[in-house]
Amino acid sequence: MYSMRTIEDIRSQFPALGQSVYGKPLVYLDNGATSQKPQCVIDLVDKMHNGANANVHRAMHKLSDDATALYEGAREKVREFMNAPARENIIFTSGTTASINLVAASYCRKFLKEGDQVIVSSDSHHSNIVPWQMACEAAGAYLKTIPVLEDGQWDMDTFRTMSLERVKIIAIEHISNVLGIVNPIKEVIEIAHAHGVPVLVDGAQGIVHAKVDVQELDCDFYVFSGHKIYATTGSGVLYGKRELLEAMPPYMGGGDMVDTVTFEKTTYAPLPLKFEAGTPNFIAQASLAPALEFAQSLREGEIARVIEAEEEKIIAFLGEELMKIEGCRIYGYPSGEAKKVGEPGSKIPLFSFNIEGCFPSDLAQLLDKMGVAVRTGLMCCEPLMTRFGVTSMVRASFLPYNTLKEAEHFIASLHRAVRMLR
Ligand code: PMP
Repeated sequence: MYSMRTIEDIRSQFPALGQSVYGKPLVYLDNGATSQKPQCVIDLVDKMHNGANANVHRAMHKLSDDATALYEGAREKVREFMNAPARENIIFTSGTTASINLVAASYCRKFLKEGDQVIVSSDSHHSNIVPWQMACEAAGAYLKTIPVLEDGQWDMDTFRTMSLERVKIIAIEHISNVLGIVNPIKEVIEIAHAHGVPVLVDGAQGIVHAKVDVQELDCDFYVFSGHKIYATTGSGVLYGKRELLEAMPPYMGGGDMVDTVTFEKTTYAPLPLKFEAGTPNFIAQASLAPALEFAQSLREGEIARVIEAEEEKIIAFLGEELMKIEGCRIYGYPSGEAKKVGEPGSKIPLFSFNIEGCFPSDLAQLLDKMGVAVRTGLMCCEPLMTRFGVTSMVRASFLPYNTLKEAEHFIASLHRAVRMLR
C-alpha cells in the first residue's frame, strides 16, 4: 500500500513535519505527547467531513451507513492490530484517560469493597493514579504501588513479595511516558493471575513502541489513545476480556447503549455498545483505521529494519551524548547489558533528563527558538518526579519519522542552550 524505503519516505507522508518555526526547520521531539498525522489520516477526516458525515448506528440512509461502516471498520482494524478475539472486546472511548476512568468507575463499583486494595506501578501517569484513588475513596479501599528503582526499572523483588490477597485489580504502565523503558508486564500479569487478580495495562506509549498481542499477553484490559499513534485526537480504545466487560455495569447512560427503555427499567445493548453512550467521536475513531494500517506498514518488511537500525543509533547516540554534558542526569536508563528493542528492560527513543544549573523550562524555550520542540514539566507524573527529587524534567521523544540527524541537531542545540544559561 505504501512504498516507503527510507525515513525520508516516511517523513514525506507527514505534511506538518515539513514546516519551519521561527524560520528554522521544525525538529518535532514531543511525540510522547502526541504524534503528527500522516496524509492518509488527514484524507480520511476530510473525506468524512466532506461526505460521509452522519451520525453512526442510527439512521436508515446512505450517509449514516457510510459513516457506520467506517466506524465499525476501524473497530475491526483495532481488533486485528491488538489481536483481540472479537469486536465485542473493543470499546471506543475518547482516549487512555477515558478508558481508565471507565474501568475504575465501572469495575470498581461492582468489585471493589471496603478494605480491598488496588496496585498501580509508581511510574504511572496521573490518569493511571487518580481514577483508582477516586474508586478507592468511594469504596474505602487502599492504593498500593510497585516501586521504581534508581535506574527507572520496576522493583520486581518488592512486587514479588507483596501480598495480593486483598488486591482487586492491578493497573500498570506498559512503557512510562517519562522513563521510556519497556516494563515486565507479562511477568506481573502471570503473578497477578496466579492470585486471581485482573490486570489493566496503560498502553498509551506501549502501543506505539511495542508489538501488542493481547491474547499472548493475557492482560485483562489494555488501553490507549489514538492521537499518539497517528490517529486524530478524541479517539481511544479500551480492550477488555469479554467476561469482565459483561460483568461490569455501564459507565455512562444515554443513547445507543440501550436495548429497551421504560420509566421502570432499562436493559442494555450488547457489547461493545453497552459502553458507548451518546454520539461517539466517530470521525476520530474512524481515523484509527488508516492510522493503524500506517503503523502496521512500518512494522513489516525492509522499512521495519531501517527504522529499527535508526532507532538503535538514536538511542545509543542520545545516551552517550547526554551523559557527556556536565551535570546531566537521565531518568530511566537501564543499568546492565542493553536489551533487544521491545524486550522488557529495553529503552525506547524517549529521554527525560535534567541539567544542573539549567531550569527545564528555560532549556525548552531556548530549544523552541532553535526549532526544536521538546516537553518539560511534571509530565502528569508528579509522584514519579517526587521519587526522583525533582519538580520538572526535559523530555525528547522520537517516532519512526525522526532521524539521527535530528537527534544530532537536538544535542548541538542543547549545548548552545546550556552555554547561554550557565
Ligand atoms: N498514560 C501515559 C503513559 C501517557 O503517556 C498518557 C499521555 N501523555 C496518558 C496516559 C494519557 O493519555 P490521554 O491524555 O491521551 O488520555
